[in-house]
Parts: sequence; structure tokens; C-alpha cells
Amino acid sequence: MRLATLNTNDGDRVVGVTGDGGETRFVDLSSADNSIPRSLKALLEQSDGLSRAATAMSEATAAGAFVTGRLRAPIVSPGKVICIGLNYRDHAIESGAEIPTEPVCFSKFSQTIIGPDDAIQLPRVSKQVDYEAELVVVIGRAGKHIAEADALSHVAGYMNGHDVSARDWQAGRPGGQWLLGKTPDSFAPTGPWMVTADEVADPHNLRIALRLNGETMQDSTTAQLIFTIEQLIAHLSQLITLQPGDVIFTGTPPGVGAARKPPVFLKPGDTAEVQIEGLGTLRNPVEAE
Ligand code: ZN
Repeated sequence: MRLATLNTNDGDRVVGVTGDGGETRFVDLSSADNSIPRSLKALLEQSDGLSRAATAMSEATAAGAFVTGRLRAPIVSPGKVICIGLNYRDHAIESGAEIPTEPVCFSKFSQTIIGPDDAIQLPRVSKQVDYEAELVVVIGRAGKHIAEADALSHVAGYMNGHDVSARDWQAGRPGGQWLLGKTPDSFAPTGPWMVTADEVADPHNLRIALRLNGETMQDSTTAQLIFTIEQLIAHLSQLITLQPGDVIFTGTPPGVGAARKPPVFLKPGDTAEVQIEGLGTLRNPVEAE
């Protein structure tokens, strides 16, 4: 099942997504079950939320209850945006970094989150804004000290993510800090929808690509992840309680702009697309702040 957050003339609501290729249609889940919450995070907070959404999805689809609007980020305001750096071996090498022996973790604030077709805003104070295609894990069930063997049962689904990064604020700053380079407004596009975990047969075998103005800049597979999703969830949850609607960016494959000769950075008028197998395409224009 694909679930999205749609801004309709009646405000935001969680919708099902149906149709492949040509026409995508949004299924009005609340027409079949008016207790379905308006936010996907609130839906995930209900222990039976996904199963009720699935029931509503089949009933509303059968009834032809479709709705129109503009897609927003699937999780509009996550409680946590946790990111993993250098989690593809080739990307660590192209970055001149050591291959990590434990996950490199950082975070973004929730104001980084934007949805499909929303503009990535280039900060006035950065001249080196880079792209990073990433598989994003959406947590569906709370937990702490989660065992690797149990980790995937805490995952609600997956979506495309884009870890936009201002390299001139990521490197060379006092104390090696990354925060300001990673968390400017609009620096975490996600979507266009969340695909529930039951429909992703193997999250560690998905092709992942980024196209900039139609040209493929990154093209790899999540089989190259150094730390698996199970390992990341177990590692993080030793210290942090993971909660429904939290999102984890799992790292980017090689091909980022900063590692190219000459380097490539985002500029106003660009269009960036992240495409992970089975998760749709996340397309965002780029504009100056
Ligand atoms: Zn990243």
C-alpha cells in the first residue's frame, strides 16, 4: 500500500495512492472510515492504523472515492529526522573519509522537510549546495533497545529522500560540526509517498538514483549499504527511543557533486530527481533563497 499526505481544499489528509505509470489517483480513505486521522504520523501512532488504512483503501477504491490536491511530504513534521553519513563504501572513499566502523549519525530539524515539487532553497550564504539521494526508513512502532532480529517489525515503510547538503557549511567549520550544513530550511525533500514495508520485498536490494536536470549523477543499489537498516535501528535505539513517524535517512551512494572534477553544485533553475526502485520519483526544483 502506498500512503501519501495530500493537501486538499479541506486541508491535509492521509490518502491511498493507486494506479501505476500514467494516471496516479488518490483514494479518500476517510470516506470509508472517518476515524482515519489527517496526518500519517497520527495514523502510525495508532497500533491498528495501517490495517485500518488498508481496509479503508479497498473499500474506498471499490466505491470510486477519489480526491484531488497537492502532495506534501508523507510525514509533514517528523519528531526526529535522523541521518546516517558515509554509509556506502564508495561514497566514503570518494569523500576522502575512512570506511566507518560504526554508523556516522547526525540529524536535521523538522523544518528541513519538504514534499514533492516543493523548491529546495539555496541559502544566500552557501555556494556549495550538493545533492544526496537516500533511502528513508519510516518508523511505525515505538521502541528502545531494539534487537536487530526485531528491527524491521518497527518499520512502517520506505520513501525516497534527498539529504541536501551545503558542503561549505559541512566541512572546515570549527570542531568538525556538520549541523548547519545539513539542516538549512528545505534541505530534506521526501516522498512522493510512503510504501508500506510489506510491499518492499528486500530494502537492501533496491536501485537508487539521482538525476540532475535529467542527467544521472548517482546510480547504485541499497545492497551497497555498509550498515543495514536492522543494524542502524539497533544502534540508534540503544540511546534514543524511536517513535512512530520518525524518519531515518540511510546514507547516499557515490556520485555526489562535491566529489566530481570539476565539482557540481545545485543552482537556481535546476531540477533534482531521486528515484528508488518501487518508491516512485521525488522531483524538486531548485531556487535561490
Ligand atoms: Zn546523506
